[in-house]
Amino acid sequence: MRLLRSTDMALRVLMRLAVAGETSPTTREVAADMGVPYTHAAKVVAELQHRGLVETRRGRGGGLSLTEAGRGASVGRIVRALEGEGDVADCEGATPCPLNADCRLRGALRRAQEAFYASLDPLTVADMVAAPTGPLLLGLPSARRAS
Ligand code: SF4
Repeated sequence: MRLLRSTDMALRVLMRLAVAGETSPTTREVAADMGVPYTHAAKVVAELQHRGLVETRRGRGGGLSLTEAGRGASVGRIVRALEGEGDVADCEGATPCPLNADCRLRGALRRAQEAFYASLDPLTVADMVAAPTGPLLLGLPSARRAS
């Protein structure tokens, strides 16, 4: 199963913010650190803010920070929410599959998809930045400048 690019970018942003401590990197800094185009990062940040996972402060000294809810959020729940309820296969696309009304494969793929999410449920954003990933994040340019 492959994540939507926007879901992966959201997880990258959350992980970068999880090591920010008292600093508040800007969207532009986070985008540059995490290899995400700025315009995509800005959309992702707006979505994460809407979901209460990220706070933004405007103006001089402003920037992004992870909320407490964001730090403790389940990776499985985040991925579920961002990926939506769609099927793994394109069962009902522009040219619907003729089997979609009663397909055993469709059911099996749904169960596999749920097992994938369930394996991520116990993991939090904070868990994702334990070593070795956390130290790697702290070595990224804007994190190094802030320390
Ligand atoms: S064969 Fe089944 S799983 Fe594949 S597209 Fe058709 S309905 Fe969906």
